[in-house]
Amino acid sequence: MKIIDIKSHVLQYKLPEHLRFSYSQGWYDSRTIMILEVITDEGIIGWGESLGPAFIHKKIIEEVYKPLILGKDPFDNEIIWETLYSSLQDHGQKGVVIEAISAIDIALWDIKGKYTGLPIYKLLGGAFRDKLLAYATGFYRRNIENEVEELVNEAHRYIDDGFKALKIKIGFGIDEDIKTVKAIREAIGDEIIMMVDANHAYNASNAIKVGKRLEEFDIFWFEEPVPPEDKNGYIEVKNNINIPIAGGEAEFTRYGIKDLINKRCINIIQPDTCAVGGITEFKKIVSLATINNIQCYPHIWGSSIALAAGTHIGFSLPNFPNCLYPPDVMLELDQTPNIFRNELSSSPIIFDDGIIKKNNKPGLGININKALIEKYEII
Ligand code: MG
Repeated sequence: MKIIDIKSHVLQYKLPEHLRFSYSQGWYDSRTIMILEVITDEGIIGWGESLGPAFIHKKIIEEVYKPLILGKDPFDNEIIWETLYSSLQDHGQKGVVIEAISAIDIALWDIKGKYTGLPIYKLLGGAFRDKLLAYATGFYRRNIENEVEELVNEAHRYIDDGFKALKIKIGFGIDEDIKTVKAIREAIGDEIIMMVDANHAYNASNAIKVGKRLEEFDIFWFEEPVPPEDKNGYIEVKNNINIPIAGGEAEFTRYGIKDLINKRCINIIQPDTCAVGGITEFKKIVSLATINNIQCYPHIWGSSIALAAGTHIGFSLPNFPNCLYPPDVMLELDQTPNIFRNELSSSPIIFDDGIIKKNNKPGLGININKALIEKYEII
């Protein structure tokens, strides 16, 4: 089997005024994604997605990566990965060049699955579990009156939908964060698992201040307390508060992730399949995490392709340390309104009462809605 073409698509739509939202780093007023199809001479097409600046990803893929992989066998994913990585290694070992590789790599795994008739988790060595524990990512801010009240209502909606775990966005100022988390915890009771995510809005001393005050609200993890470059800051925060520290969505490849793991900056590593280097690279990071006995949960943000890819990873993660009753693997389910997540494909996951069950279809297990691509493609 040979790769005969790659078609990349940038899709975009503006969010209506009432659906615009912010996190600690800025506002979202539109949705933009870069997805691609890797086309083979056998008629099998694999789909992939990158996380990050879609226009730049498209340019890198079209101008640099595509010529390097035409004619290659999609089963040679390791060779293709190393070829693409070394082609731009001297000009960037992180960021957009790796995000663009991620999209291609995911598509290769989709092809391998479709060719063999197997779901990707099977190709990764099998599913270690039948279900994943979904957690709702939401609680973005909209600068509305009664914002805290609205966030409490949002928590109730997720619980009504079956979620047993919620992740609250913080990083809006120490007092504001405490007020929000306190209100939500008091409203939902002690049974629901609750995490917080600052998207690196703090320096270490302020992150410690927030963390210490959050301890009383039984926080399952504190995500990205400090910027990804500040490894010493991570260690400082981790050593000074009594909440597990998570991070890694803004780190790239095994080379970038290794310091977070080896220096024990975090308790939970969260690579994103669409950014870290795809499924091929994610698998190596899992080995690194296993060696160091660090929990690994995939970060997921994007369309149904990203969601499907992250879900296959979730099922394939080994239990470590091994024990009779290993903890649930947590899977991120973004709940912000997103046409690309909800309508780009047939359902990428089977969600039932707060858990995600296995999708046994080949490859990523999704059917892409090409009419949606036509409707939203801008370049
Ligand atoms: Mg995050």
